[in-house]
Amino acid sequence: MRPFTYVRAESVPDALNGAHTADTLFLAGGTELLNWARIGIESPRRLVDIGRLPGLDEIVSHGDGLRIGALARLNDVAQDPRVETSYPVLAQAILKAASAQLRNLATIGGNPVQRTRCPYFRSHDPVACNKREPGSGCAALHGANERLAIFGWTEGCVAVQPSDPAVALACLDAVIITEHVEGGRRIPAAEFHTLPADDPAAHNVLRPGELITGIELGAPAPKSAYVKVRERQSYEFALVSAAAAVEVQDGLIARARLALGSVAPRPWRLYEAEQALVGLRPGSPDLLDAVTSGFADSRPLSSNAYKIPLARNTALRALELALEA
Ligand SMILES: Cc1cc2nc3c(=O)[nH]c(=O)nc-3n(C[C@H](O)[C@H](O)[C@H](O)COP(=O)(O)OP(=O)(O)OC[C@H]3O[C@@H](n4cnc5c(N)ncnc54)[C@H](O)[C@@H]3O)c2cc1C
Repeated sequence: MRPFTYVRAESVPDALNGAHTADTLFLAGGTELLNWARIGIESPRRLVDIGRLPGLDEIVSHGDGLRIGALARLNDVAQDPRVETSYPVLAQAILKAASAQLRNLATIGGNPVQRTRCPYFRSHDPVACNKREPGSGCAALHGANERLAIFGWTEGCVAVQPSDPAVALACLDAVIITEHVEGGRRIPAAEFHTLPADDPAAHNVLRPGELITGIELGAPAPKSAYVKVRERQSYEFALVSAAAAVEVQDGLIARARLALGSVAPRPWRLYEAEQALVGLRPGSPDLLDAVTSGFADSRPLSSNAYKIPLARNTALRALELALEA
């Protein structure tokens, strides 16, 4: 591991001023970053510890919704009564992520910044991976790709984004709030992660030194649910996951939002399916066709065709649970 300097920021301006160079990274809970340093994914020259920035761990009412500080711990977010009641999809997604010990340390701001679990990206040995070594290729394209993408991939990268909370945030149309020495931004959660068609080496839209300060949730979505399919029931990343949020008026679906996880380089909204669901009756056999319409642009890799029916059925199950909530 390369030697690095460590500084603790005492305020947001302090953090921004201390992190304007490309070889500087923020340290929040450290559950992801320290693994990167161990494996060799990152070798920052400087870490700016943001873990004690005052006020950034608070969850406060904001208009119709909530503003969650970036340093709120995952378990604190999931166990907040306002999140449990008004955004069950987010509480469920968080409680299905990682382990209780990790969730006590990991922050909601650091979670979407986690990087792919693609075995080639995480390899200890040098292998072709455009995210590890830009221009080196993608060993996963014809390699061990059974857990990788069915949407949004290119020959340059077939990795998936593994976060559970990010899927719920994309489904809820959450907004990620940032600060930067050149000005902050409001980034829709569904657009936070980048696609390899733009740049196979990139993971998300953050600029060097850009600090996530909070996440805004809009109007409550009490009829919402998260389903995670994995090889064991706890402490495991998803094969696929689905988040659903619905509104029902006069016995018919008036609005539906669906997002899939672990199927693409970003949480994948099924916009066509969302449109097709409007006007259907909960329990209708037509729900399956409506969900299936969101898969027109799915493309399997050599070893993961199973993910297409699995993801479709997971989305349908999440939708049914949201309708029952
Ligand atoms: C064994 C294991 C199992 C896991 N399983 C799951 C799982 O099933 N589902 C799931 O969703 N996640 C899972 N995770 C990921 C875990 O949730 C993340 O590691 C965690 O949420 C990252 O948060 P952190 O505060 O520890 O970030 P850190 O490790 O401190 O930082 C991670 C990255 O985010 C950046 N960063 C952190 N905070 C900010 C900020 N406010 N602004 C800008 N950049 C920031 C850092 O610079 C760094 O680049 C797992 C992790 C481990 C180690």
